[in-house]
Amino acid sequence: MSEARHDWSKEEILAIYNKPMMELLYEAATVHRVHHDPNTVQVSTLLSIKTGGCPEDCGYCPQAARYHTDIEGNDLMKVSHVKAQALRAKASGSSRVCMGAAWRNVKDGPEFDQVLEMVRTINKLDMEVCCTLGMLTENQAKRLAEAGLYAYNHNLDTSEDYYKDVISTRAFEDRLETIDNVRKSNVTVCSGGIIGMGEEVEDRAGMLVALASLNPQPESVPINALVAVEGTPMAEMEPVSIWDMIRMVATTRIVMPETQVRLSAGRTEMSREGQAMCFFAGANSIFAGDKLLTTPNPDVNEDMAMFKLLGLNPQKPFVKVAQPTTTEAVDSELVPLGEKPKWTRPEHKIERNEIAKNNKKLVE
Ligand code: SF4
Repeated sequence: MSEARHDWSKEEILAIYNKPMMELLYEAATVHRVHHDPNTVQVSTLLSIKTGGCPEDCGYCPQAARYHTDIEGNDLMKVSHVKAQALRAKASGSSRVCMGAAWRNVKDGPEFDQVLEMVRTINKLDMEVCCTLGMLTENQAKRLAEAGLYAYNHNLDTSEDYYKDVISTRAFEDRLETIDNVRKSNVTVCSGGIIGMGEEVEDRAGMLVALASLNPQPESVPINALVAVEGTPMAEMEPVSIWDMIRMVATTRIVMPETQVRLSAGRTEMSREGQAMCFFAGANSIFAGDKLLTTPNPDVNEDMAMFKLLGLNPQKPFVKVAQPTTTEAVDSELVPLGEKPKWTRPEHKIERNEIAKNNKKLVE
């Protein structure tokens, strides 16, 4: 049984979010240490395999065809190109490749077959492979699972209440349906959101209620700060304060203790000190590479220098997501390279990792 709670109320989450900063940080860091190695952060690489020309109208996205941005559209990348990029990412410390295509939904046919081939190819490189391709049917999720997909990303973006202010071409329920279809396959779920889109703090809490009430909770939750891009409806939004990011990361860590919290878009605007606070508050993944799909991201060398400064180690691929069951069910910290993981699924007996167990002793 997972220790995660699925019945958080918005009021409870708001009370956590609004705690005095030092209390919030202490609580989040304590939860983090129980469930994760605080000195390990996963480095992931996000690759745009098909850029621009999307028919959707997500207000934050420069890839929507209807907005006039200076994004250069590209057709679906060749498998050989994806492999070369994945190898480069692996050589610079990434253990996960996430491939994004600017589609409303996945369509069966030659392009989907090509994506399946990309998944097989990256899977053979002993890297976690994740896709974000838009809406997905149950059958398509199963085909991706058969090809070796480790995770599927489908962000809720914001609260159900605020969703229609951000996107009109699909509904919040559509997002939940795709997540449900992924859950019916043997693929882990990655789903998070963006802050700084003009939402209220209540909407941030509302999004966390929706994510935390998924059972099981997503194995991965990206927290993005809006990167306001000229030509999109959100071009004039004020930048998100680092304190809001820290609060959001810390609250996510507390309400979803076992998930991998990903510090995602917006890092170019954050100082090293700010990012360090986010890691302390429970973020344990970053995206590497100078682009996050189409928006700027810190250079990988800068990130490695930050890791050195902070004594952080990049996480190896296929670390079992800590979903403690019993203290007796203990397994090693990492799955060695080359060994395929047992996916983290609710019906599996999930082992607690050694570090989490030791840390729990320390805080008890
Ligand atoms: S976020 Fe995705 S679905 Fe929305 S416009 Fe951009 S590419 Fe399309």
